Amino acid sequence: MAHIKLENIRKSFGAFEVIKGVDMEIRPGEFMVFVGPSGCGKSTLLRLISGLEDATGGDLLFDGERVNDLVPSKRGIAMVFQSYALYPHMTVFENMAFGLKLSGADAGQLKARVTEAARMLQIDHLLERLPRQLSGGQRQRVAIGRAITRNPRVFLFDEPLSNLDAALRVSTRIEIARLHKKMNDTTMVYVTHDQVEAMTLADRICVLRDGKVEQIGTPLELYEQPNSTFVAGFIGSPKMNLLNGEKAGAYSCHTLGIRSEHLEIDESGRWEGRVIHSENLGSDTYVYADAGAEEPVVIRQQGNRPVAPDTAIRFSPMEAHLHRFDESGLRLR
Ligand code: ATP
Repeated sequence: MAHIKLENIRKSFGAFEVIKGVDMEIRPGEFMVFVGPSGCGKSTLLRLISGLEDATGGDLLFDGERVNDLVPSKRGIAMVFQSYALYPHMTVFENMAFGLKLSGADAGQLKARVTEAARMLQIDHLLERLPRQLSGGQRQRVAIGRAITRNPRVFLFDEPLSNLDAALRVSTRIEIARLHKKMNDTTMVYVTHDQVEAMTLADRICVLRDGKVEQIGTPLELYEQPNSTFVAGFIGSPKMNLLNGEKAGAYSCHTLGIRSEHLEIDESGRWEGRVIHSENLGSDTYVYADAGAEEPVVIRQQGNRPVAPDTAIRFSPMEAHLHRFDESGLRLR
C-alpha cells in the first residue's frame, strides 16, 4: 500500500512547461482518476509518478520517501497502457509471468501468481493462447493480469480502455472496478477521457487544467459542487448548461449553471426557448433548445419524450440545483 505525495511537481520539455506546480496526495489504497482536456498534462503526470519521466522540480514521495531519483523498476509500480504492449511471440501465461520471472521468482511462484491473476480476470482458460488469438478486451485483461502478478504497490493506468469497443469498455471497466475492490490495498492512478469511467471508478477525481490542479474531490462532490465553470463544464455528460446575461443576473451572478436533469419543461415555465433537436436514448430524451444563449440549453426528460424541432417551449430550473459563478468563473457560495 502506498501513500503518494506530490509537492510542487513541475515538468518542462525544453522551454515548454507542461506541469506547472502540482500539489496532491493520493491516499493508500485509493483509486485516483486524472481527467482534463487534451494536452493538459494527465499522461505526463502519470509518467512522472511512474518514473518514465523525470520531474524538473518538486518532490515525489512514496510513503514519505523521496523517489524522484529512483528508477521505475525500484518504485513498486506496474503500468497498463492503452496499447497493451504484449509480447506477440509469447503465450498469455508467458506474458503474464515475464516481469515476475525477471525478478527471480521460481516456477512454483510463477504458476501460482499467474493462475491467481488469471482467475481474478476470468482469463484462466486463455493461458496457452498467443495475443493475436485474443480479442482486444482479452488482450487488455492480459496486460492488467501481467501488472497484477508483479504485486505492485501502485497500479498506473493510462487510458487502458480507449482501444476497446463500447461493450468491451463496459465489461472491462466493471472488471477494473472489481479488481480495485479485491486489491483494496493497492493504490491506483488512472488517466481517462471518459466521463463514465471517471465517475464510476474513482474514489476521487483530479481535474487538471493547463498543467495545474483545478479541483480534487469525490465524483459526487465534483458533480454537485464544482468549484468553477471549468469543472462544471467538464464533469458530467451532457455538460452542465452555463448561462450568462439576464438569466444569471436574475440570480445575482455572472454565470448560472444548471444540469440538464434539473430543468423541467412546463407551460408556465420561467424561461422560453425553441427546440432545435431531440435525442432519444431510450431511457431518457435530451431536448436541445435555443434559449438565446451561445450554446443550446439541454433539457433531460425521463423516458421517450421527444419534442419536435421548432416547437416553442417554456421551462424552469429546479431552484435547489442552481450553481452560481462570478466573472472569473469561480463558484459563489
Ligand atoms: P491527451 O488527453 O491528449 O492524451 P494529456 O493531458 O495526457 O493529453 P500529455 O500527454 O501529458 O497530455 O501532454 C501534455 C503536453 O506536453 C502536450 O502539449 C504534449 O504535446 C507535451 N508533451 C508530452 N510529452 C512530450 C515530450 N516528450 N516532448 C515534448 N512535449 C511533450
